[in-house]
Amino acid sequence: MLEVTELPAGQRNAIGVTLGLLGDEWALLILREALLGASRFVDWRSRLPISNAVLTARLARLTESGLFVRGNGYRLTERGADVWSILLSIWAWEDRWVAAHVERLPVRVHRLCGKPFDPVLVCSACDGTVLAIDHTLAGGFGPSGSWERSVPAATTRRRSGDSADAGFFPETAALIGNRWSAALVGAAFQGVHRFSDFQRCLNAPPTMVADRIRTLCSLGVLGDDYRLTAKGLAFFPVVMCLVGWAQRWFRAAEGPALVHRHLPCDSAFVAALDCSSCGDRLARKDVVPTS
Ligand SMILES: [Zn+2]
Ligand SMILES: [Zn+2]
Repeated sequence: MLEVTELPAGQRNAIGVTLGLLGDEWALLILREALLGASRFVDWRSRLPISNAVLTARLARLTESGLFVRGNGYRLTERGADVWSILLSIWAWEDRWVAAHVERLPVRVHRLCGKPFDPVLVCSACDGTVLAIDHTLAGGFGPSGSWERSVPAATTRRRSGDSADAGFFPETAALIGNRWSAALVGAAFQGVHRFSDFQRCLNAPPTMVADRIRTLCSLGVLGDDYRLTAKGLAFFPVVMCLVGWAQRWFRAAEGPALVHRHLPCDSAFVAALDCSSCGDRLARKDVVPTS
């Protein structure tokens, strides 16, 4: 049964809450290891270069937010396990577009067809492939949507002892691990490409906007014209899986933050992933990492 968390009116919407939770490399790594079987404190400590303090804080936050339940260790809830499609999209994108990783990423094999695969973003209603540039999605902000409500609250989570990035998903962390970067990426996917428009959307100081644009350009996600490059566009499945997860589990009193229709089938768009090898719908239990 899906238990949705109701968010108070006028506050952070589902996207803002989700970015605050998952726009954090350690949280993503803890969830990844949980999907691979970690459930006790020592499991994460032995698998990740994470400090006691950071692990304790993240597990508490993820438990509080309904991704884990305490018992004999930490067990993923349905909400926690449901991040698999986000992690899978990140894994595929980092694998294809990012050279520097502290660990070699394993190969993704689809249990049903036995072949290595890439996840393909599709419409869950009609199974049609959806690309960032094919204009088959119409829509945008819904009743609780606005730039202001879609960015996480300013965070104080970078404390001493809270080591910087882990380096496992280095560029994903750069794209979504910072409130302004995440908003900038969201704006770019909505077609924004002028400095003044970015600034208007983010409502942030110009030096901050300039700094974030420079970072995205240096990563090759934005080009010199401030438009998304092929690498940037390829991040779309991560964005749509994040949006899907956010809206499955959190709902603002006013309604959804984002509303999209898939035009070819005229249905509300819900992201799903297909196997690039056999074309079947991917399910969490059918995705296996092999070395
Ligand atoms: Zn469709
Ligand atoms: Zn397959």
